[in-house]
Amino acid sequence: MPGPMLGRRRPNPEPESAAPGPTPPTGARNLVFVVFDSLRYDSWLDARPQTLASLGDVERRWSYASWTAPSHYNLLMGLLPHSSPPEVYASEYYKEDFLRYSDRLGVEGMQFSKVLPSLFLPTYLKHGLGYQTHAMVSMPVLNRHTVINRDFDSYELMPKHNDMAAMLSRMSFSDERPSFYLLNVGETHYPYALPDEDPGQWPRISGVHGVFRHLDQGDDEAAIPTEPREFFDQKTLEELRARQIRAVEYLDEVVARLFDLLPSSTWVIVTSDHGELFGEDRYFGHGPIAHEKVFEVPFVEGIVP
Ligand SMILES: [Zn+2]
Repeated sequence: MPGPMLGRRRPNPEPESAAPGPTPPTGARNLVFVVFDSLRYDSWLDARPQTLASLGDVERRWSYASWTAPSHYNLLMGLLPHSSPPEVYASEYYKEDFLRYSDRLGVEGMQFSKVLPSLFLPTYLKHGLGYQTHAMVSMPVLNRHTVINRDFDSYELMPKHNDMAAMLSRMSFSDERPSFYLLNVGETHYPYALPDEDPGQWPRISGVHGVFRHLDQGDDEAAIPTEPREFFDQKTLEELRARQIRAVEYLDEVVARLFDLLPSSTWVIVTSDHGELFGEDRYFGHGPIAHEKVFEVPFVEGIVP
């Protein structure tokens, strides 16, 4: 039986009778989350991305989750990768982290209580502050039928899993309402392929590759691995890690184009949803892995340079 259609290229229908949101506060900034899926912190460092460095100093932070779906849910709660501060209560950290949105959005007097009870950033931005809300995602596990597609004006699973550049032409900004964009970027996800690379040239790994053969076909059921897995030799793992670093080098150029099209004063956050293992302690990939390198992620934020 063919897998379900996952809704690529279909924005959420906007009811014609939909009431406009509240009038946005004066000076409210556009907000853009760029999530490089699976990108390790040290792959970012090794790539030395110059455009990304112009946004600010990259920080070593920690993801709340080890794989895509819960990590994005967490990001959309407004909880960005954390700094693992000692001697701090979780609830205090959450509140402080939320109050940082006053700086990020340029909105005075934000109160944590206003994001209750949904605890969902798009809901608050759209209904509380009058933002337009948009998501473009690369991973089928985040498709528009999933629970995180809530209070988005548009939500699109991109036709290819690895083409951030294709997102840029779909972005638009208005003078009337600030915009929030979530961009889930897949070039940094296995098989770390650039958009112009022939899929026939992608690395072939027994077991793992079967999962991703169907990545751009929207076939969920085929994404369940059925073959016995072999582990990889060191040379292959080093090549894979080099491919992720090369993906960051390439994406730095795409980010330069993104920065060129963003209105001035847009607040940009670039991070990853989780890391990736390249053979450390006999692990590969991410997901059912409890290892420092699967939680360690890069994080940088600031006003678009
Ligand atoms: Zn992910």
